[in-house]
Amino acid sequence: MISHNAMAGLLEDLPPMRVAERLGRLRDHLDEAGVGVLLVTTSSNVRYLTGFTGSAGTLWVDGVRAVLVTDGRYKDQAPDQVEAVGADVEVIVSGRENSSPLRLLSAEVDEIGLEADSIAWAEQRRLADLLEVKVLATEGLVEGLREVKDEGEVARIAAAAVVADGALASVGPTFEVGAVEGEVAAALDHAMRLGGASDRAFETIVASGPNSALPHARPGQRSLEDGDLVVCDFGAVFDGYRSDMTRSMRVGGTGAGLEAEMLAAVLEAQAAGLAIVADGVAVAEVDAACRAVLAEAGLASAFTHGTGHGVGLDVHERPGLSSAATGSLRTGQVVTVEPGVYVAGLGGVRWEDTVLVTDDGHRLLTGSPKEL
Ligand code: ZN
Ligand code: ZN
Repeated sequence: MISHNAMAGLLEDLPPMRVAERLGRLRDHLDEAGVGVLLVTTSSNVRYLTGFTGSAGTLWVDGVRAVLVTDGRYKDQAPDQVEAVGADVEVIVSGRENSSPLRLLSAEVDEIGLEADSIAWAEQRRLADLLEVKVLATEGLVEGLREVKDEGEVARIAAAAVVADGALASVGPTFEVGAVEGEVAAALDHAMRLGGASDRAFETIVASGPNSALPHARPGQRSLEDGDLVVCDFGAVFDGYRSDMTRSMRVGGTGAGLEAEMLAAVLEAQAAGLAIVADGVAVAEVDAACRAVLAEAGLASAFTHGTGHGVGLDVHERPGLSSAATGSLRTGQVVTVEPGVYVAGLGGVRWEDTVLVTDDGHRLLTGSPKEL
């Protein structure tokens, strides 16, 4: 496993992210959307635009100014982080003498855009009353920018994937008859931390036997039994960026039967999806490629979710890869390809990798072996 110190050293060697230019790109989108001011309240969007990683930050963006309002807990951290990425952002710390900096900013405007995808119903009413403005619902203005990753972002997702690969390599031998789901999941989480992850990318899934038939099962106290299918879906966070990978296996058993067919068919389906990932390919086509293989195997109805999603600061980002999704893949997007089949009472199988879309194909960022 790569040591924590080695990962810390790696961070210094990674290419920098181009944070400073993002506000300019957002302003172009605001113009197109006819929004004069956007109040960015989603923490991953604030981080993307300013480099600020704290839990309390609201970013005011208009045609000329960007102002990050935070509280006293972040009075040193916020200016330091903004300066470190070179973002042209003023930081205002709200406090007793400055109880509502947003009110001062809003005095000159009549309407403000809010992020409708994430702001709470009560919060948008509170802001409208506090700021005495009309609030406009905007959708995906920052998320749209985040779809295509820069070189520094890709390097961080790749580093997260390396940490997760290392964790699985070290914990893999514990996937055996008698092992407890929750303990294996905890061992993976522990190994990712030791490997340099700042966190797990989402709640680690280790699901065995009938539990593996639930795509988002939570690890519990069940012990792995001979012949079980086991689905293990997990990822690491590195410098804010996430990885996402699923490996499936069978513990003991005969190597035959429906379980063996499911393992092989889903792996073939995933390969078919991965094979066509490239700039310009319709996202629905990737989904269709996976589905065609599973239909051939008589498992079409057992594939009950979409084929994949973007990954970055959040584990589920744009674009979504499903049969209903529109749009095409673009170079620089980082997406998962993760077909799965689930048979109630028996178990499930899912294979998932995180890949970078390139001009002529893709680059695998997750590297753990896929053995039948
Ligand atoms: Zn996953
Ligand atoms: Zn996923």
